[in-house]
Amino acid sequence: MLLGAIADDFTGATDLASMLVRGGLRTVQRIGVPAPGETVPDADAVVVALKSRTVPAAEAVAESLAALQWLRAAGARQFFFKYCSTFDSTPEGNIGPVADALIAALGCGFALACPAFPANARSVFQGHLFVGAVLLNESGMEHHPLTPMTDANLVRVLGRQTDGTVGLVPYATVEQGAQAIRRAMTVLKEQGRRYAIVDAVDDRHLMAIGEAAAAHALITGGSGVAMGLGENFRRAGLLPERDDPGALPQVAGAAAVLAGSCSRATLGQIAIARENVPVCELDPLATPDAAALAAQALAWAADRLGAEPVVIAASAPPDKVAALQAKLGRDAAGALIEEALAAIAEGLVARGVRRLVVAGGETSGAVVRRLGVRSLRIGAEIDPGVPWTFAEGGAAPLLLALKSGNFGARDFFLKAFEVLA
Ligand code: ADP
Repeated sequence: MLLGAIADDFTGATDLASMLVRGGLRTVQRIGVPAPGETVPDADAVVVALKSRTVPAAEAVAESLAALQWLRAAGARQFFFKYCSTFDSTPEGNIGPVADALIAALGCGFALACPAFPANARSVFQGHLFVGAVLLNESGMEHHPLTPMTDANLVRVLGRQTDGTVGLVPYATVEQGAQAIRRAMTVLKEQGRRYAIVDAVDDRHLMAIGEAAAAHALITGGSGVAMGLGENFRRAGLLPERDDPGALPQVAGAAAVLAGSCSRATLGQIAIARENVPVCELDPLATPDAAALAAQALAWAADRLGAEPVVIAASAPPDKVAALQAKLGRDAAGALIEEALAAIAEGLVARGVRRLVVAGGETSGAVVRRLGVRSLRIGAEIDPGVPWTFAEGGAAPLLLALKSGNFGARDFFLKAFEVLA
């Protein structure tokens, strides 16, 4: 293993893993911290997916250190702490406390921090994070229910989360390339800074930053700054040119889509799918019982399963979601649907489904837990940030595509199966 990564949430882990595959690294995503001594996957990079973004800081630190310990024991040469490209965190953490703990454990004294991902409209200029053309604190992120981001100045934001100090490698230096960036980081470290926020508004910058950090024990950032890491390992003679780093085993079996996201993107994707394949819409208002909903859906699917996908969706427009929430309460409504969809996933796999797309972050978490999946080997992307994966640890060989609600083009549910053909 060359790179060992720790991600603070599930879909963020997949996003990073996909970027690493694009960079030529065979990559496996682990769900949660592996047990000590658990078999190390045959991969160039392993991303341990935690759910540590919004838990109390001490918990996030403990889990991240446990992940680091496993990755070190597994032989990783370099470490990556992945957080959101909108730097989702509170004044208490968890980016600063986790990064502080990783730096202390690795004894490296310094790490760069760069959430920029220009392809996704996240750029950092003079230490300020922009989402598209607006500052982070005017992007809607200032209203985030869990991690409201009210300051776009990352030097200040990270500074509030650490007892170390934070410097900046500005655009003018980054524009000069890897050597200049490396020199600037060395100077900051010698001045006693623990972090450097590094500007980047372009993929060229991310490649140069990656190159400048080739010898760093720890890199922190969004998935964008991982863009150049494969090249570093190849340059050092540690990574061969891989023909197909995203190669997955062939899996024969029926195809299905499970949708629990109520995002506008997912609702649109269901509408397009409906024109082409059978779609079953759950009616939790009429049947507010997870087992009964699952039984209905599985009966509907029984004689429809085959190579052509079927779609089973709980997804509903805001008025219907509000109606169910008014009836059951917000948490109970979500839990009911997640339980129903997890049971449907289990039933579908028992009935021969081997290619499964799941829409929704929380929904994906519920499905993966129910199926007993421990790790995902990352394959080719269907759309940016959403790869096919081969699930290991479940009852049967299974290809899974886990889509965060907002991701994917309008024809995603059809395209997903076409790319496997
Ligand atoms: P996203 O990635 O779009 O945020 P998630 O799966 O994370 O999607 O979250 C969607 C949440 O909405 C889940 O908890 C799911 O159970 C819930 N949900 C899905 N359908 C409905 C519905 N018809 N009524 C109420 N809640 C629903």
